[in-house]
Amino acid sequence: MSGIYIHIPFCQSKCFYCDFYSVTKNEGRDGFADLMIDEIKLRSDYLINKQVDTIYFGGGTPTLLHPSYLEKILVQLHEMYEVSKDAEITIEANPDDLTPGLLTRYLQIGFNRISIGTQSFFDEHLKLMNRRHNAAQAKDAVMMAAKYGFGNISLDLIYGIPGMSSDEWEQNLDVAAGLPANHISAYHLTIEPGTRFGKLKKAGLFSEIPDSESVEQYLKLISLLGARGFEQYEISNFARNKRVSRHNSKYWTGEPYLGLGPSAHSFNGTQRHWNPASLAKYSTDIRAKKLPKGETIDSTMHRNEYVMTRLRTAAGIEKSGFRSEFGEAAWSELLDMADEHISKGYLVLENERIRFDTEAWFRSDGILSDLFLL
Ligand code: SF4
Repeated sequence: MSGIYIHIPFCQSKCFYCDFYSVTKNEGRDGFADLMIDEIKLRSDYLINKQVDTIYFGGGTPTLLHPSYLEKILVQLHEMYEVSKDAEITIEANPDDLTPGLLTRYLQIGFNRISIGTQSFFDEHLKLMNRRHNAAQAKDAVMMAAKYGFGNISLDLIYGIPGMSSDEWEQNLDVAAGLPANHISAYHLTIEPGTRFGKLKKAGLFSEIPDSESVEQYLKLISLLGARGFEQYEISNFARNKRVSRHNSKYWTGEPYLGLGPSAHSFNGTQRHWNPASLAKYSTDIRAKKLPKGETIDSTMHRNEYVMTRLRTAAGIEKSGFRSEFGEAAWSELLDMADEHISKGYLVLENERIRFDTEAWFRSDGILSDLFLL
């Protein structure tokens, strides 16, 4: 089964940590759905398997687009693809955009999962990151989504925020786990070049928290959510009652997906394509019926990506799957490359699987590079 990602590239204001592609002007919003419908038609041959079981509207801020436009896009997708009856159809939402009327409308037009960008339940953290909602709105949004019929709710948290105490992080986890959400994505704040935080860092006015505190917060995340019934199924993702994100899981298990909208990436099993990260360029390209740039995944890239994405998951790399994809000798080679990290306890080999040890997972980059073929 395939997945479809829709990038809605509009935000009301830019969060200081964010390097996703989005524009803060209203210009282009009204014509955007028609542009995307043109792209859906233009790229209708991209997915070899027309059966789709996940659709994800992300961004940017999908809740800034009028629901009639979101509906138009969904109707077009249903016309072009065989969307399964139990498909997971997600909308990302900003807490302060949500109203009872809007939530009801989202359910009517076919969304059955909502991912709410709560980030923190402290006003000072939200202000520091230039989020436009406050702590009360973050909680209310999740409660409201449940009250008006969403049974599958995810929320986002950020840790490693400069100035956030250990106690505040525990409180954030406690509040999140007490809300009617079955999925939590928790990301460590990273300071990316080009963002407001990146510029402040360059000027010596802002910096990451010490590494030891980051690890402490990460371990707290796992233990506190674990105690509240959330299973860590990926380095940054936790689910209870088995409500894993079926869409995001496709990225970690090599399933094909079509990404539509500016900056969206696609993968059809053998090639990767990406749209320009510019609304103006995207519009020009779609009007000229120009297809996005791409690259063919060669066997080394495929093998390295397989290792990298599977090791993001708690399931890790399973011997039988790896062998059937790359052969017996490749599995032995991987074990040789992993040997030192297994003996140090950073990687765990058990039940014919290799996975990260919980703490080493947090520092996985250095270890992963030792497992790549050059
Ligand atoms: S974090 Fe989300 S809401 Fe904030 S600027 Fe980025 S895409 Fe927009």
